[in-house]
Amino acid sequence: MNVNLIPCLSDNYSYFVIDPDSKKTCIVDPAEFGALDNFITKNKLTVDYILNTHHHADHVDGNLQLKEKYKCKIVGFEKDKSRIPGIDITLKDQETWMFGNEEIKIHHVPGHTMGHIFFHFTKSKIAFVGDTLFSLGCGRVFEGSYEEMFHSVMKVKKLPAETIIYCGHEYTASNAKFCIAYDPSNKTLEKRVNEIKTLRSKNLPTIPTTIKNEIDTNIFLRCDNREIRKNLSLENSSDIEVFIKLRKLKDNF
Ligand code: ZN
Ligand code: FE
Repeated sequence: MNVNLIPCLSDNYSYFVIDPDSKKTCIVDPAEFGALDNFITKNKLTVDYILNTHHHADHVDGNLQLKEKYKCKIVGFEKDKSRIPGIDITLKDQETWMFGNEEIKIHHVPGHTMGHIFFHFTKSKIAFVGDTLFSLGCGRVFEGSYEEMFHSVMKVKKLPAETIIYCGHEYTASNAKFCIAYDPSNKTLEKRVNEIKTLRSKNLPTIPTTIKNEIDTNIFLRCDNREIRKNLSLENSSDIEVFIKLRKLKDNF
């Protein structure tokens, strides 16, 4: 799968995906029309589908103009069909949808919004997770409960370790500050923070990441870590309690 990262707005990433076998194409979360239209025109591409992870404006604002110009079909979560502009194909939790010859598995991950989903390209081992998981962070809880967000983040964590993760925003540098504050003795994190600094100083993306990377460095996937629990004075709490504490601390960090 050929995945092109398209920076949009101030810190969003949209993705233009091309299946080299079937030649099918899709856009994941078109944050705006202009940046995507430029990319499509410059590369003389056609668009078959738009895939939306959730209904927020910074993930769907390109939907209607792109659909009108390129006659593509819009794919989203069935229970959010009233909030996804121009939706044509509705998918359910755990449903498999064929993109060309590739199976995409849909996972419902409520928390950031009630109708948030992520798309797992099982054969290519890539996942588009929207605003559920970020590199070194996770999405804010806007509509669901903190408990729901924990379970949703755990669903992403359960993907195979080598899975390549594409998320909706470039928040990695600021997320890193929070991780370091509560996980200061993590050497892998320290190394990652230096990589991030180098990349961002050249204005390069820190995305994609991998599940393995995130398990080693993203504090929200490390709620079972002894050192972190000690730093929070939550040695005897459950993972979910640690997660909720971290999410609330991050809300005001
Ligand atoms: Zn969002
Ligand atoms: Fe967003």
